[in-house]
Amino acid sequence: MYAEVLINLGLASVDRVYVYEVPLELASKIKVGMRVLVPLGKSHREGYVLRFTDKPGVARLKCIIKLLDDEPVLTEDILKLAEWMAEYYLCSVGAVLNSVIPHSLRKKRKACLVPLVDQAQGVAVVQAFGNDKVLDLMVRLWEEGEVDVKEAYRMLEGEVLLKTLEDKGLVARTGRYGLYRTVSTQQVYELGPKFASTELPHLERRAPRQFEIVRWLYERGQVGAQELEKRFPRSSLASLLGKGIITKKRVTDSPSEQPLLPTSHQQNAIQVISSLVNSGQFARCLLFGVTGSGKTEVYLQVVERVLALRKQVMVLVPEIALAQQMIRVFSARVGSRMAVLHSGLSDAERYEEYRRILTGEVDLVLGARSAVFAPLNNLGLIIIDEEQEYTFKQENFPRYHAREVAQRRAQLQNAVLLLGSATPSVETFYRAQIGDYKLLELPERIGSNMLPRMQVVDMRAEFKNGNRSIFSDLLRQKIGERLDKGEQVILFLNRRGFFTFVMCRECGLVLTCPHCSVPLAYHRVTGKLHCHYCFSQIHHQETCPRCGSVYMRKLGVGTQKVEEEVMKTFPRARVARLDTDTTHRKNSPRQIVEAMTRGEIDVLVGTQMVAKGFDFHGVTLVGVVLADTMLNLPDFRACERSFQLLLQAAGRAGRGSNPGEVIIQTYQPDSHAIKYVIQHDYPSFYHQEIGFRKSMKYPPFSRLIRIIVSSATERRAEATASELGRLIRELLSGHDESVDILGPGPCYLAKLRDRYRFQILLKGSNQDLLTSVGRYIIEKSRSSNIRIDVDVDPLFM
Ligand code: ADP
Ligand code: ZN
Ligand code: ZN
Repeated sequence: MYAEVLINLGLASVDRVYVYEVPLELASKIKVGMRVLVPLGKSHREGYVLRFTDKPGVARLKCIIKLLDDEPVLTEDILKLAEWMAEYYLCSVGAVLNSVIPHSLRKKRKACLVPLVDQAQGVAVVQAFGNDKVLDLMVRLWEEGEVDVKEAYRMLEGEVLLKTLEDKGLVARTGRYGLYRTVSTQQVYELGPKFASTELPHLERRAPRQFEIVRWLYERGQVGAQELEKRFPRSSLASLLGKGIITKKRVTDSPSEQPLLPTSHQQNAIQVISSLVNSGQFARCLLFGVTGSGKTEVYLQVVERVLALRKQVMVLVPEIALAQQMIRVFSARVGSRMAVLHSGLSDAERYEEYRRILTGEVDLVLGARSAVFAPLNNLGLIIIDEEQEYTFKQENFPRYHAREVAQRRAQLQNAVLLLGSATPSVETFYRAQIGDYKLLELPERIGSNMLPRMQVVDMRAEFKNGNRSIFSDLLRQKIGERLDKGEQVILFLNRRGFFTFVMCRECGLVLTCPHCSVPLAYHRVTGKLHCHYCFSQIHHQETCPRCGSVYMRKLGVGTQKVEEEVMKTFPRARVARLDTDTTHRKNSPRQIVEAMTRGEIDVLVGTQMVAKGFDFHGVTLVGVVLADTMLNLPDFRACERSFQLLLQAAGRAGRGSNPGEVIIQTYQPDSHAIKYVIQHDYPSFYHQEIGFRKSMKYPPFSRLIRIIVSSATERRAEATASELGRLIRELLSGHDESVDILGPGPCYLAKLRDRYRFQILLKGSNQDLLTSVGRYIIEKSRSSNIRIDVDVDPLFM
């Protein structure tokens, strides 16, 4: 018996497949997709069994030394997918597999059971079982935190009861939900049975502290225990509790397990998608629905039908850290036959989830980008929520886009791909327009929740009126109003806000590249303005070429500055900041989100993170501090991203019963991103944007390949990049088909982790030609000892 083994060399661009002999003692156990240890030269290597073959005409073959897995870790579909990825993303199959399969797959860990409900909340449910064995186990779980699964079997005398407990959401095996729990509970204070408002004046005289507490609760209803206990002395609280004037209790906010009655638009979408899945053929849909239109409910009901067909589902979300609500909603409906995959899992947890998927214990996998490789064999549906999010693209090797991989995967497994978004990527909407995707619309928000009112503040006018603060008069006034009413505010900025572009503060003109129509970026080192597409440079101008004013400024504000400004202007407000700079912070993003949900924060200042997917019911005002910092990134997608972010941020306002309001501060109120976002008009925005893409031949009318040459020595990086550019031009000189070769020139991030970076951008519409150029570069890079990265379909420049 002989096996073809793909040796895992960890190399980016080459695969080595060799034939080995399978020794007799392994013959009965070895299967395709297992990892094996094989001799290679003088060392030993890990490899994947690809297939069994006849003996090739070689004299003596080496033997496989040992099997590294008990069961295959690689399914045939995943292998095919990896082969396609290697082809499309110009890398090796081995490298793809490396990133796909958890490293720790062989590490065994004793499976443990953890409680999902705590004692106060669960004891009644457990008693209702009327079974002492169950009660014993639960008490032990509550006391010890976890119990070995084998031990639990022993205590319950088998696994039947354990399954019931799991299905009821009382316990879970570790790894199942990773860091997240399905049921969240918290303690709150509220006014108690003995409260009578008539006694308040009395209380005010006798015990002013206690009076403060009572008034606090009177105004706010329920208040989180932590927050109240931080604010007021325990003794006063205890005394009020003792008198029954206030009470402390535990509340759960668990999502509904019952399907909601769908609206007619939802019904239509559910019908169409389900019948596509039912037909068992590859299909693609775009669920285009404004925020709050009930896309999640559509997912849930479609999922129920897919599961009823005994098919499996994969749900991809942009960032698992923000997806706790999604996890809870799905687990409430799907129960325990669900796995969650994300980067926050420990190796052991990841292993456990992967094993459960491989052994078919799971019907639904929910996860971030890399969950697209989950080994589900009977896949019926792949859902990608918020498909436009750039986190679906992996920004290091292999640089795949989960949407494209999912599309290929759905095709391989005859499944349906469902993309959901309120603001689809221009590429996706284009595919829907030309009929590649079936377009399903949810045009209305559910119930009486109105879309928030959006208002633009022209910062040019504020400037002319002498207001140099980062807050316009209107925004300051509106924040004040919210604070008075005890409602919440989100202030939003995009991440890269620092001195990148130059703008006239009088007329709003931004300097852009005449060849590429993208904003020019100011570089401190050269003191010049650079185009990151064609690399032309111009000198910084002191006066505005349009209006002649002398207020040409490098603009930018960061979240920290905004936070400080809020604290200065509103000293009584409880302010928190949420951004990607997690290093110097006392509270984790998760703690901040939870505090925000409980209403313990008045003003949340943040970057992209706050715009995405949260459901804070107390937020009635969203302020966009300076829209221009996103509009003017040196990237042809800057407008698209701004539109998406602004609309998403707006979706955060008014999700509760109070109507929401959005204020956008900008120097460019006439930009199409701003103009259409305030009307919530994606189609018009798309129309204008696609025109721009077409006229400039940007995607989807072309494809891009970005080549990054980097080195610790600037001169070497630059020289290699120029040489590469020359070679590519030479290679393409005989072709009639056009490929634009832009560069080489310095990257937007010209120096990253001590490496100087130069890039060449290839732009063209002939995919085969581009791919062959890409291959050629990789060929060249192998003989060069300088680092060359190839990014196919880059999202950022
Ligand atoms: P989206 O994902 O499109 O932003 P959501 O799924 O968050 O929208 O839905 C918004 C709200 O509407 C949620 O609170 C959800 O529970 C509710 N909802 C969705 N569908 C229905 C329905 N058919 N009937 C009543 N409420 C619904
Ligand atoms: Zn240019
Ligand atoms: Zn001007």
